[in-house]
Amino acid sequence: MQPSLMADDAGGLARGTCVQVYLLVDTRALDRPLDYLVPAGLAGTIGRGALVACPLGPRRVVGVVVGTDPATHAGRLVALSGRVDTPAVPAPLLDLAMWVARYYAAPVASCLRLVVPPGAEGALRRAADGGWRLVVPARGPAPRLIVRRAVDGPAGTARQQEILARVPGEAAIAAAELVRSAGTTMETLRRMASAGLVVLGSEAPVLEDIHGLGMPVPAAPEVLTPDQQTAGERIARALASGKPQAVLLHGVTGSGKTEVYLRALDVVRTQGRGAIVLVPEISLTPQLLSRLRARLGPGVEVWHSNMTPGERARADTRLRDGTADVVVGARSAVFAPVREVGLIVVDEEHDASYKQDSTPRYDARQVAFRRGRDAGALVVYGTATPRPETWHALERIQLHTRADGSQPPAVRVVDMRTQRPGPVSAPLARALRDAADRGHKAVLLLNRRGFALMSLCRACGWLATCPSCDVSLVHHRDPARLSCHHCGFERPVPTVCPRCGSSEVMRGGMGTQGLEQALTKIVPTMRLVRLDASSTAARGSVAELLAEFAQPGAAILLGTQMVAKGHDLPEVTVAAVLDADAGLRHPDFRAEERAFDLIVQTAGRAGRRGERSTVIVQAWEPGSRAIQLASQLAVETFLEGELERRRQYLMPPFGHLVRVVIEGHDAAAVIGLGRALAAAAADAAWPVTVLGPAPLHRVRGRTRRAVLVRADRVAEARAAALSGVAAVADEAASGDVRIVVDVDPQTT
Ligand code: ADP
Ligand code: ZN
Ligand code: ZN
Repeated sequence: MQPSLMADDAGGLARGTCVQVYLLVDTRALDRPLDYLVPAGLAGTIGRGALVACPLGPRRVVGVVVGTDPATHAGRLVALSGRVDTPAVPAPLLDLAMWVARYYAAPVASCLRLVVPPGAEGALRRAADGGWRLVVPARGPAPRLIVRRAVDGPAGTARQQEILARVPGEAAIAAAELVRSAGTTMETLRRMASAGLVVLGSEAPVLEDIHGLGMPVPAAPEVLTPDQQTAGERIARALASGKPQAVLLHGVTGSGKTEVYLRALDVVRTQGRGAIVLVPEISLTPQLLSRLRARLGPGVEVWHSNMTPGERARADTRLRDGTADVVVGARSAVFAPVREVGLIVVDEEHDASYKQDSTPRYDARQVAFRRGRDAGALVVYGTATPRPETWHALERIQLHTRADGSQPPAVRVVDMRTQRPGPVSAPLARALRDAADRGHKAVLLLNRRGFALMSLCRACGWLATCPSCDVSLVHHRDPARLSCHHCGFERPVPTVCPRCGSSEVMRGGMGTQGLEQALTKIVPTMRLVRLDASSTAARGSVAELLAEFAQPGAAILLGTQMVAKGHDLPEVTVAAVLDADAGLRHPDFRAEERAFDLIVQTAGRAGRRGERSTVIVQAWEPGSRAIQLASQLAVETFLEGELERRRQYLMPPFGHLVRVVIEGHDAAAVIGLGRALAAAAADAAWPVTVLGPAPLHRVRGRTRRAVLVRADRVAEARAAALSGVAAVADEAASGDVRIVVDVDPQTT
């Protein structure tokens, strides 16, 4: 035996016993399996999915065993340092991760991270018994430090007031967030606390938060609607068959889809199998979560990417050992270690947040399909506004009527060209005043945050733009500033024009903060609850804001598309989309679909308790197809037309797209490489159509170009795109140009 094989603790090596390992590192050159020798002492104990400690230069890194082929390698091999003392990745999840890597052309390590136990990212620790352990941060949820204004606190210094100005009214803000946004230190906050200006506290983890808030949990209905009954029977039959299947549960808003999921969960659990319930954004669905917890008992775990490692470790253990058999979570929950998955529910399947917009760019809906197929599970895609892709491909189960017997609301389209300037049309103002008088609630959607969308000079035409992105800066209040929504750049609001010195700097366009101010004049007595990314920067506060809105009495929930997401809120008799056609001006081929969904979903928030209700859609081009059909709630007509159009242009589902984005600081290099990449993709041996390179607006000082590759099969589009990438990869790397490949992109 060669001495070089005798790596550290290897002891007597069994010559030729080796395994194939992917290291959990991001080095591009290491995106392939490496052969390691298995020390004799471990022979036979290391199988596929095992986590192992591997020497990499002077370091030990965690690797995952993906193969156990003996002696595929004749040269000198390094031995594993040992097995990591943690459960192996179950075979179905290992296969799933490898499939994600292939399908989405992502580095394998980035996909394995989705399925390894928590802590595998971090350091390895050698235990006293010689074994290797993952360093998992302490168990149990780590509370987060939060800050509130003190009631009747002293005024404080000018600087302290500046910091205080960033603490929103009576709400709490995360201390870390405040330190960052106010450019201060923890030490200063502590001093302010001892001076009685603010109160420091700690926030319970999100689940307890949601529980403590008392969102109304409806009781199980005694009788199902006939549609629910039929849907339940069809789903039960599919579950009993034990064959993999996927169905679309298309139910109008308020039709009681959740009840159908709950019954399906009961069935699958009595079969001794587990389930995964996916929701678009966990913080936006506190209601669904509390309903599942209340109805299914303690065997339910939540799963999302904002969990602390301790929370994740607990959920991981409980699912692996079978203490919990249902997981509810955002897209990453599709990888949760649920045993014997029999059912996967994808709620609000139309929601674009199922696609991850960083590597690996997987789509949880597609991954759910694959996991379900491999596990022999039923996958139920539920929504009121199905994607054309889903509508086309899957068997449909439909819930036609609202569960409480109420009629769908009548929608009125208001042509904004006929209205006086201002964000709120006369009919909407009337509806809001009426709701205020009756003590009712309203949900208003304006899909842009900030006070005003731009700041410009009336005298010379100067427009405040971001120095490193090609976008205009958005005017925010509390505190007043101009801010870039792409890179976070901020500057003070100018009072005189920096170009010509004129004092005629004015605001243009309105965001949610501006709407909020306008509403205080229109309906001064109504409570306003603003829900957008600025108002919810603190974790868990969406639930707080929704609960605040749910309090008795007249109130308006206003905000970005967050307000449209599946909430079942009582006493809402007015719903409105204020800028219905804003999204239609985007060149994306899904622009119409998105505008349509937003209107139908927002309309669905109104009139759920049978009260007479009003839905208003404000538009500048009220005649456009998406707006007309949405206002008639004509989902099927819209989908059929949309599919016809897509068939004509060979867009998904009649073809597959792969998008490649090329970006870098050197504009000439980006433009040149974009052209070369597109040409190489078009020349590749696959039948593809290549569009672009098309210019995208600059972000963070990086010039960007997009190339879109279309083919009948995803494998062809991907292969052609990758061959384009390969043709320019070396030059891109040396020129600091980044290339991102996105399979089945949701933005085009
Ligand atoms: P969806 O998700 O389809 O929009 P939900 O599942 O939120 O609808 O249900 C809407 C409302 O109808 C909820 O308040 C729910 O409790 C109620 N509901 C569901 N099923 C029934 C039923 N069979 N009878 C009466 N009310 C029901
Ligand atoms: Zn000017
Ligand atoms: Zn910027």
